[in-house]
Amino acid sequence: MTRVAVVTGGNKGIGFAIVRGLCKKFKGDVYLTARDEGRGLAAVKELEGEGLSPKFHQLDILSGESIKKLGAFLVDKYGGLDVLVNNAGIAFKQDSTAPFSEQAEVTLKSNYTATLNVCKGLFPILRSHARVVHLSSMTSLNALSKCSSALQSSLKNCKTLTDVDELMAKFEKDVKNGVHQANGWANSAYGVSKIGVTVMTPIQQAELDADETRSDLVVNCCCPGYVDTDMTSHKGLKTIDEGAETPLYLALLPPNSTQPRGEYVSEKKVVKW
Ligand code: NDP
Repeated sequence: MTRVAVVTGGNKGIGFAIVRGLCKKFKGDVYLTARDEGRGLAAVKELEGEGLSPKFHQLDILSGESIKKLGAFLVDKYGGLDVLVNNAGIAFKQDSTAPFSEQAEVTLKSNYTATLNVCKGLFPILRSHARVVHLSSMTSLNALSKCSSALQSSLKNCKTLTDVDELMAKFEKDVKNGVHQANGWANSAYGVSKIGVTVMTPIQQAELDADETRSDLVVNCCCPGYVDTDMTSHKGLKTIDEGAETPLYLALLPPNSTQPRGEYVSEKKVVKW
């Protein structure tokens, strides 16, 4: 059986470096996925130039059809999935003139809902010992600390993914009505979208743990640090390979690791939130 790893948004930035690291360290096939085939294949070519052999599959995380096609392909060719790195994400620039309501809608759709949809599509085919890593952000913890204490408590006490969905939808609705700050939300669409990712992680771990048919499935989320990429307008201090270190550590956790499981991880250490 050939093992297989998938990285979303692998054509550039931290995702590209995660693919590079997996090609070096993961025993199996590594899929660089990208929403744009041209950009994805160019990235594959670049890694081939370094003597590595990533494979390519198209994946736009915003498209249910695209997620479905990747899932069917993985089942057909590999019979399952061993590593999933949910790296794809977006952030509006600070000087963006897009209305905040639009920023909130688009950012939550990409960073939270689409990431969750990839999980819904691909979790059913995870094999025993599979590892899942979500790229969250330290911004999620900053944003959480800026929410009202009532909201912090609601967010921290989410028990189901429906609870998280409802709070994310509430943020969007409050933004549309111009009352998100009055209702205790942090004033950051990106921060709230990543709160969603951080909060959903332990819930997903608990759901996976409850499935007795599969063993040793581990899902964690992490902050890669402040990384020099297009997203940060190249102001980040870490190289993409340094940013990939913690995601790679989580993607390559050995079989039957007891920790971290369902955690938020920064610099390879669990951070309680
Ligand atoms: P980049 O903007 O450099 O790269 C983002 C990647 O995501 C691109 O490949 C982009 O593809 C892809 N992407 C966006 N939307 C979709 C989509 N709908 N379907 C598929 N792919 C998509 O960002 P970074 O490398 O900096 O960030 C990677 C992850 O790390 C993100 O989740 C980010 O939030 C997180 N992060 C980054 C930090 C940093 O300092 N850079 C800090 C904390 C977290 P395309 O080229 O087609 O746009």
